[in-house]
Amino acid sequence: SLSDRLTATFRTLRGKGRLTEADIDGTVAEIRRALLDADVALPVVTTFTDRIRARAVGAEVSGALNPGQQVVKIVHEELVEILGGSARPLSFAKSGPTVIMLAGLQGAGKTTFAGKLAHHLKSQGHTPILVAADLQRPNAVTQLEVVGERAGVPVYAPERGVTRDDERSKGDPVKVAKNAIKEAVKRQHSVVIVDTAGRLGVDAELMKQAGDIRKAVDPDEVLFVIDSMIGQDAVATAQAFQQGVAMTGVVLTKLDGDARGGAALSVREITGVPILFASTGEKLDEFEVFHPERMASRILDMGDILTLIEQAEQKFDQVEAARMADKMAKGEDFTLTDFLSQMQQLKNMGSMKKMLTMLPGMGQAREQIENLDERELTRTEAIIQSMTPYERDNPKALNGSRRLRIASGSGTTVAQINSLVKRFEDAQRMMKAMAGGGGMPAMPGMGG
Ligand code: GDP
Ligand code: MG
Repeated sequence: SLSDRLTATFRTLRGKGRLTEADIDGTVAEIRRALLDADVALPVVTTFTDRIRARAVGAEVSGALNPGQQVVKIVHEELVEILGGSARPLSFAKSGPTVIMLAGLQGAGKTTFAGKLAHHLKSQGHTPILVAADLQRPNAVTQLEVVGERAGVPVYAPERGVTRDDERSKGDPVKVAKNAIKEAVKRQHSVVIVDTAGRLGVDAELMKQAGDIRKAVDPDEVLFVIDSMIGQDAVATAQAFQQGVAMTGVVLTKLDGDARGGAALSVREITGVPILFASTGEKLDEFEVFHPERMASRILDMGDILTLIEQAEQKFDQVEAARMADKMAKGEDFTLTDFLSQMQQLKNMGSMKKMLTMLPGMGQAREQIENLDERELTRTEAIIQSMTPYERDNPKALNGSRRLRIASGSGTTVAQINSLVKRFEDAQRMMKAMAGGGGMPAMPGMGG
């Protein structure tokens, strides 16, 4: 991910007394690679790294910061800049209802976001109404109605009274949007949020429809909703919508997912349109007003968290690997005590599971930890701890009556003991195979 790559880069600078030209070149090259790998658009990468190089070369060595810290500070400031500088608040109409139109590809998260925005505005004392102008998908109107109900905000839907979605969907979204504004004025709603249809790809007909809705409702804001996991497609999609609907703001969704951060960095820089909001989950309150400063900190802070994890991992690898290699070199067996110790290592890392799932690019370790069933680990621990030291070192001695005793001692069943022993034997086989050549398995004990 962007953050761990940047962290790794900064780590190499740590402790340097002063930065040489070569340090700066190396750092800038690494930042460049990290940004490209995070799907940041090439022109944005070039602008960004040029700025960093220029500032890093000219940087005065300050008393408070070492050169490495100074580069971090410069990168942070430039990240803030590229993300838009300061937060841009929503603009409201001077009179009459404020009209906010949402546009974006299908599945981007428009309808979900419509509910969140309505909920947010309502909590600030506004009286929003949601408008279902997505008549493309059969269930779109119903979906918005559900969202509206959850947010406690009314929904204007076409042809009310007709309950079947397929019949309702025959309406004309431009007319629906227009009528909705009239209705909102009549009912004195202060904000009208117009949800529109999207396609899987940029589509001329749909873009025209969005453009027509825009003309018909004369919105105060046109928010382009974009999935932050979209990667390199972000730029082309954003440009198409900029041409088609001339958005005034951007909403980044699914920032909770495995986004590599590229879309966030590219879209603002390429379109010049500010990012106003971020969506970070499926629930109503998983919503943020977008602050470039906070996002930049998050990109860099995540890196710090990652450093901790990397250190933990390295420690795990080194200490455990050395111990295991030593044991195997001496021809000793992999025992249940070893198995338990490895499980406990994993469990420690498992407590970071939630955090890890928010960090992109953790690779194999992350995948294993994500698949970790913590109850299972606790059970394994209980079982092995209920064994005598002799049994732990001699699993073959685990006969029926011993298994029964261990089961009752650990509050488990014999079937669970059997399954554990089987998993242990798999791990043991794996360890034996490893001892014959090759390296350490990443984390044995995770089988079955
Ligand atoms: P639309 O087609 O643009 O209206 O997209 P929807 O609002 O229907 O969202 C598409 C899918 O993405 C749904 O399953 C949503 O629950 C999900 N979704 C939307 N926003 C987010 C988000 O910020 N995070 C996550 N994890 N899922 C989201
Ligand atoms: Mg929708």
